[in-house]
Amino acid sequence: MLIDGRKLAAELGAELTGRIAALGTAPGLAIVVATDDASTAWYVRSLLRTAEKLGIAARRIDLPTDADAATIRAALAEAAATPGTHGVICQTPLPGGLTLTDVGSAIPPEADVDGANPVSLGLLAAGAPDAFPPATAAAVLRILDHEGVDLVGRRAVVIGRSNVVGKPAALMLLARHATVTVCHSRTPDLPAVAREADVLVAAVGRPELVTAEYVKPGAVVIDVGTNATADGGLVGDVATGAVEQVAAAVTPVPGGVGAVTTMVLMSHVVAAAERRGSER
Ligand code: NAP
Repeated sequence: MLIDGRKLAAELGAELTGRIAALGTAPGLAIVVATDDASTAWYVRSLLRTAEKLGIAARRIDLPTDADAATIRAALAEAAATPGTHGVICQTPLPGGLTLTDVGSAIPPEADVDGANPVSLGLLAAGAPDAFPPATAAAVLRILDHEGVDLVGRRAVVIGRSNVVGKPAALMLLARHATVTVCHSRTPDLPAVAREADVLVAAVGRPELVTAEYVKPGAVVIDVGTNATADGGLVGDVATGAVEQVAAAVTPVPGGVGAVTTMVLMSHVVAAAERRGSER
């Protein structure tokens, strides 16, 4: 079975519309961009479109593509301090080999709607209820919940250990009482480890790495990967056609995790605005 991420995204959007109306003011999102990367530009345009449809006031803040860490940090902090702004995100790739960890701490945790501040990851690890996980990792859990997957005591295997996907997804699965294994590029016999999973999350960035050989019959497979193809298309980390024959359910790419991620990010902006109430 293919899991329909777009349908879930539409349901989440409908729920958000009601919450935004109840706020009485438009939640504000600032998107800081210091790259001319084409896929980032596409993603930002899609965020702006979705925000507009929902009634979220999103704005793009462009920085030079050679901006240094101090400049990016200053822009993030200034955006967060601007009245009417409830959430701030920073697009990657960043110039000069900078990583999100180098600049993310300039976003205060209460406005860190995509979990870029290492403090947010720490809060997530500690089980703090208000921590914003990165939207992609949160989308993985939203999909599993929507599919009614019981995580308690189940084996979950996450392939990938990045701060934006693998680690936070593993922490969230652990918080939900799954028994979690995190794999990476040095994991020996990856197919054998993956085959232990009741829930398999692939967040690798390697086109169709996960074949049927990686999947236990009846497992639920969540494909986070988005890999550009030569013809301008998109392919995931999972060989969907073959894996579908073995798994109970699998998310497609496109139309799976990505669609839900955008709506989860918007839900974090709304939650940030709700928490701050009439402060701003
Ligand atoms: P990343 O920072 O490059 O991390 C990739 C992880 O995969 C690393 O932990 C790496 O191991 C591991 N890995 C690489 N090759 C491997 C192999 N052959 N076997 C096992 N593990 C391997 O990437 P990311 O930012 O987490 O993103 C992962 C994928 O998700 C990418 O395709 C990205 O485009 C996609 N993504 C999608 C969304 C969405 O909304 N759908 C959002 C964010 C990212 P090491 O740590 O040992 O290097």
